[in-house]
Parts: sequence; structure tokens; C-alpha cells
Amino acid sequence: MASPPKPWKAEYAKSGRSSCKTCKNSIDKEVLRLGKMVQATQFDGFMPMWNHASCVLKKAKQIKSIDDVEGLESLRWEDQQKIRSYVEGGGPAPSTNVVVPMEYGIEVSQTSRAACRRCSQKIMKGEVRMSSKSAGQGAKGLAWHHANCFMDLYPSVQVEKLPGWKGLKGSDQASVSALVKNIPHSTKNGSDHLIFITYEL
Ligand SMILES: [Zn+2]
Ligand SMILES: [Zn+2]
Repeated sequence: MASPPKPWKAEYAKSGRSSCKTCKNSIDKEVLRLGKMVQATQFDGFMPMWNHASCVLKKAKQIKSIDDVEGLESLRWEDQQKIRSYVEGGGPAPSTNVVVPMEYGIEVSQTSRAACRRCSQKIMKGEVRMSSKSAGQGAKGLAWHHANCFMDLYPSVQVEKLPGWKGLKGSDQASVSALVKNIPHSTKNGSDHLIFITYEL
């Protein structure tokens, strides 16, 4: 008995021969596809039922966790992010005219247990870490980031207004502020996030 694989497998199609279980059209070579792993009928093991990634990500509640996706790390960054934001948002990416309120926070990490959602590296004890979550999600929806990774993702956030900012040491505030100033104006003004000043621990 083969051990069960992760429920999903992500890769760029190796050929143009597979077809999408969702829309029934063929999946062109090199196109990002997501396979749902199912018990194979002809052999003892699992095989992927392929879909266009776009077809899977259009539907809600397909992928429950990024840990469920085999091969995610080998995808191009923007494709990884597509899947991550799908999982974090719990469904299809909101269309551009819908503002999803985000809640952010900042603090000095008390442990080395959290991993950065962007670069997957551990956030060490004593480092400044910044959180984001969609408004309405509980603490479980909290995503931690290194300060610099956070500023890459949310360049328009005004760090001085974040809950927890005042609790930082002056030197920590200075290093985070330095990250903000390094961002070119074009991207800094590029996106507008609603900032909710609430903080849950
Ligand atoms: Zn499709
Ligand atoms: Zn990071």
C-alpha cells in the first residue's frame, strides 16, 4: 500500500495531452495545472486528476492548506502566490473592486516558532515580525512575516499606525521605518489597504 500523497499536486504540464476535469478542455504544455490525487484503479497508488489551475482556483474551498499542495515550492513565485492567496482567502481571489479589509500588527517575536509566510524562513526570537489577516478571521488566520517581507507584500501599510508599534524599542522602530523609506513611491502608492487597528493575542 503506497502511503497517501498530499491531496493536490501542482506543476507545469509536461505535455499537452492531459485534459481538465473541470472544463474538459485540454491543458496546454507548460500551463500550470493542479492535480487532485485519487486512488488509482489500475495499480496500488495514487494518480492526479488534472485541472487547469485557473479552473480550480475559480471555485471556493478546493484547497484547504498550502501544505496540501505537492510541488508548490518549485512553481514560479507569482504562481505560488496565486495559490497561497487562494488558500489564505479561503476561496477565489476577490475581484478588484472588492476591498477586503486586512488587519495588521507588529511585535517583537517572543519565540522562534513562527515561519514567515512570504519566504518560509523561521522568524527568530527577538526579531520584529508583522502579522496580517483578513478581517473577521480569528487568530488562526494570522500570517506572520519578517518586517522586510511584510513591507514587500503590503508596501502601503503605515507602520506607525499598527497596533504594537508603540511597544517596539526605538531601534526596532527605526529599522522598520527604514524599510518603508526604501520603497519607491510608485509602488508605495500603488495599492490601498484598509487598515484596521485591532489586535488580538
Ligand atoms: Zn479547465
Ligand atoms: Zn521572510
